[in-house]
Amino acid sequence: MDMLTKLIHNASLVDKATGASSTPIYHASTFHQDAGDHPGTWSYSRSGNPTRHALEETVADLEQGAYGFAFASGMSAIAAVLMLFSQGDHIILPLDLYGGTFEIVSQLVERYGLEASFVDTGDASQVQASIMPNTRAIYVETPSNPTLKITDLRMIAELAHRHHLVTIADNTFMSPYLQRPLTLGIDVVVHSATKFLGGHSDVIAGLVVVNDQDIAARIGKNQKTWGAVLGPEDSWLVLRGIKTLGVRMDRAQRNALYLANWLHGRRGVERVYYPGLSDHPGIKTHMAQSLGAGAVLSVVLDPSLEWTAFVSRLRYAIFAVSLGGVETIVSHPSTMSHAGMSADERHRRNVADNLLRVSVGIESINDLTEDFEGALSYALALQ
Ligand SMILES: *Cc1c(COP(=O)(O)O)cnc(C)c1O
Repeated sequence: MDMLTKLIHNASLVDKATGASSTPIYHASTFHQDAGDHPGTWSYSRSGNPTRHALEETVADLEQGAYGFAFASGMSAIAAVLMLFSQGDHIILPLDLYGGTFEIVSQLVERYGLEASFVDTGDASQVQASIMPNTRAIYVETPSNPTLKITDLRMIAELAHRHHLVTIADNTFMSPYLQRPLTLGIDVVVHSATKFLGGHSDVIAGLVVVNDQDIAARIGKNQKTWGAVLGPEDSWLVLRGIKTLGVRMDRAQRNALYLANWLHGRRGVERVYYPGLSDHPGIKTHMAQSLGAGAVLSVVLDPSLEWTAFVSRLRYAIFAVSLGGVETIVSHPSTMSHAGMSADERHRRNVADNLLRVSVGIESINDLTEDFEGALSYALALQ
């Protein structure tokens, strides 16, 4: 079945009990069980809820995995995966790691005895060199945030399997519509479903998908015992978002490619990061492992421009953290997502003070370019 069809025809279409055209929101904490030795399918909603289950089956299907898990946020999904490891275990992570994940790993290192190395996961020799006898896992994000660096997922999977390591990929920026890491040999996929899967900036949610039965059992246990499960209403919102993932992604990606080319080389623009631009160093690897460049780009304004002036003149794009919504969202990593880092740490990752991340929405591209043109002209006039 083609992906566009699968986004509609999945576990959430047609409720088995009633034939309803969308999975009902099962607001129940507990379920009546027949007395005796035949417990029903459902017992308590922290262990399992039919609405959440429909989402878990759907995302597993989309990622071509066997087991899905839905969490209260992307962070709780990532935490449940990191809880697979124990004191003394070593894991390898990217330098350009999502800020929240960096925060959890730092805590696990400082207080719980986990060991971690942060390297450029795009460079096989750096990853190889950091593998130690107690290394248990390699964690990657591709494209990375906010400089859209590419990591070769097949290379990571091969390297890891040679050393019996678990591989984890945060697939938030791509969504299963554009990239399916499990099919490339990765063991665990995590998502902030808050972003493209939800797609409407109206819900916080996280997902995990795996193929291996043993890993699934351990993540399932973490989900149930730590208890950061996704509620039935929020599960339903993500299920509804998924139905339009394809059409949203197609449109947003087309807009992003246009905008990236429009910004590239323009007066007042120092640099554009987008894995769909021919001068992006990772474009070949990225196109060999995904179906498109996605809808997130970053633009570095000329150092002589005031980014605040630029942002103040945007009429359509909202200025906010987050990404993956139907609306264009501009954020300033230095003062938002990466504010916790020192200036040195930011510069080491090419997060320039004048870098703005743009999550391109599905508005008319004419209006978007007009919006960016107006903001750029204003900032240039103030020079
Ligand atoms: C937003 C995000 C997260 C965290 O997800 P929440 O839903 O905000 O908890 C993790 N990874 C990436 C790449 C993200 O963009």
